[in-house]
Amino acid sequence: MSRPSEPSERSDPSRPITVVTGGSRGIGAATCVRLAVEGHDIAFSYLNDILAAEDTAARVRAAGARCVAVRGDTASEADVERLFDTAAAELGTVTGLVNNAGVTGPITRLADAGTDVLRRVLDVNVLGCLLCCRRAARDMAVSGGGAIVNISSAAATLGSPGTYVHYAASKGAVDTLTVGLSKELGPDGIRVNAVAPGIIKTDIHAAMGAPDRPTTATAHLPMARPGEAEEIAGAVAWLLSSDASYATGTVVRVAGGM
Ligand code: NAP
Repeated sequence: MSRPSEPSERSDPSRPITVVTGGSRGIGAATCVRLAVEGHDIAFSYLNDILAAEDTAARVRAAGARCVAVRGDTASEADVERLFDTAAAELGTVTGLVNNAGVTGPITRLADAGTDVLRRVLDVNVLGCLLCCRRAARDMAVSGGGAIVNISSAAATLGSPGTYVHYAASKGAVDTLTVGLSKELGPDGIRVNAVAPGIIKTDIHAAMGAPDRPTTATAHLPMARPGEAEEIAGAVAWLLSSDASYATGTVVRVAGGM
């Protein structure tokens, strides 16, 4: 299998070039593949899981797209700059950004949460999103426009008491920066939107210590099931597409009625 950092050969200047953070697994991986099917070339980041990154890169290339995978932490300014520099050098002018990388930390009441957990959640979910948006804003203003989609969460409006109030607060910040940036960047031809998923079947639940959560926490919902990562990817693809050319500053909730 090709190493994930190798772009494929073909180059077509008319194709959108989209950066996806956290593309190795879950919603990010599904988004990379969906965008590839829709004609995007993809640069994605991942933190640790090189095998998962190789799998995503292979699926993106199998869909006919060029792909470059860059290991790096979205909470690191240097890593974010390297991600965008690599995308530009190996694929071309970046036209889209999906700020997907996110963490919750373990499920806990705020009173029992460690400061290291609070800091990490805010660093990845808020600072990381801002660093990527800042770089995209700088590049897209020069290149003539683009589109940004931030992955928020239904938690932003629910507050998630007893589970992860700190994570919900970080996603509230994502919603706010989405609205503010959409107004700031509209004159530059840059649309900024968000998708707020409900409970989606990914590894994030096991990572927070509740692997059964997609089943146990969705039985009471109107749709009585968790969502699939592909159902979020579809909303992201729409917001990046020309079909969403008049959509900016909106948070699209894809949460099964949650
Ligand atoms: P996931 O299955 O845990 O996957 C997380 C992905 O992000 C992995 O590719 C991981 O890389 C990468 N990542 C994590 N921290 C990173 C960092 N600091 N820098 C770069 N990459 C990083 O998560 P998910 O469920 O797909 O969640 C994706 C987004 O959706 C997050 O923003 C999350 O808050 C949001 N969301 C998820 C749900 C849900 O129920 N799943 C609901 C609402 C919102 P490695 O593979 O290398 O670890």
